[in-house]
Amino acid sequence: MKSRSLLLIPGPTMVDDEVLLEFSKHPIGHRTEEFSSILRECFEGLKYIFRTKNPVVIISGSGTSGMDASIASVISPGDEVICIKGGKFGERFVEIARAYGAKVIEFEVEWGKSFDKDKLEEAIANSNAKAITLVHNETSTGVRHDAEFVGKLARKYGLLFIMDCISSLGGDYVETDKWNVDLCISGSQKCLSLPPGLSFVAISERAREVIEENNPRCYYLNLKKYLNAMEKNTTPFTPSINHIFALRKSIEMIKREGLENRIKRHIRISHALRRAIEEIGLELFVKDDSIASRTVTSVKYPNGIGDEIRKEIKERFGILIAGGQSKLKGKIFRIGHMGNIDLKHIVSVISAIELVLKSKGFEIRLGKGVERFLEEYERYKI
Ligand code: PLP
Repeated sequence: MKSRSLLLIPGPTMVDDEVLLEFSKHPIGHRTEEFSSILRECFEGLKYIFRTKNPVVIISGSGTSGMDASIASVISPGDEVICIKGGKFGERFVEIARAYGAKVIEFEVEWGKSFDKDKLEEAIANSNAKAITLVHNETSTGVRHDAEFVGKLARKYGLLFIMDCISSLGGDYVETDKWNVDLCISGSQKCLSLPPGLSFVAISERAREVIEENNPRCYYLNLKKYLNAMEKNTTPFTPSINHIFALRKSIEMIKREGLENRIKRHIRISHALRRAIEEIGLELFVKDDSIASRTVTSVKYPNGIGDEIRKEIKERFGILIAGGQSKLKGKIFRIGHMGNIDLKHIVSVISAIELVLKSKGFEIRLGKGVERFLEEYERYKI
């Protein structure tokens, strides 16, 4: 029997059967009252998840389409944009902003660390930037950045704050309004536990004013069209209809669990997993707990061994974990714990790591990591 693999990569993530069933339904007309009513529920539900009173638009496209739409809709050629880097997705904002003719100020951050707050303020104060970009949860390194701080600076210096929370929304605190995020971007295939293909952008009033005045050099991704359509409970183009059915189901399930409970579940799992990794004798790539991602854990490969660990875990146990990206290729592996994950998944992956390391000659007492995980999970009730 061929069983389903356990997806513990940082997206796409495992999708519940209730959500999957929505994809087997017949599509309905997207300009019907029936569909508008489903969309309305989704628009409202997304506000709950983003913790915003402002509109959240839905784009049929992967997470990057939301990043692209945000930059394209507020940035004109020649505008200065500060992009906080520190990972592959921080770099993606640089590439997108350049593609739309922005003058980009690259704020470098060492991979695996977060930004220096004084230096960031200095860079902003010395610039004429119109906007600043941040990847809240840098999936390529496993670092969670202090978005609240960036939001305060953005407000103080009058910058638009564009934030990617693609791999944190629904699995960690994302306070769109409290943190002054003007364009808050997420995607479907991470902590919301949907298949890939939808992107969401929460749009503040300030951002909306800029969007209204701007003449973007794009068509499909022009957020003005999405905002105008949303007022009539529709989308500007034919959306991925079954994805919208599935989104409604996923929102219903998140509400059933409660967003706060869901976030706490992720925090407990990530904390306990970090302790288990140390117990096994492996080195965490992000040393500092206070900036460690709650949805993806990055771990250094031990000396003399690399991606063959991942391969073996996949072949022997059917568990998928991710490798490093760009300059971290072959140096780290990453365990995604986003969305529908619970103890059985994490116990399985820790056991698999222990068994594979032991088979490669590492001194491991089997079960030690699992024991530590369970103890910490019990102890760390928040
Ligand atoms: N930003 C972050 C933080 C991500 O983790 C990802 C995907 O892994 C993306 C952007 C890109 O999203 P997509 O591949 O859905 O376009």
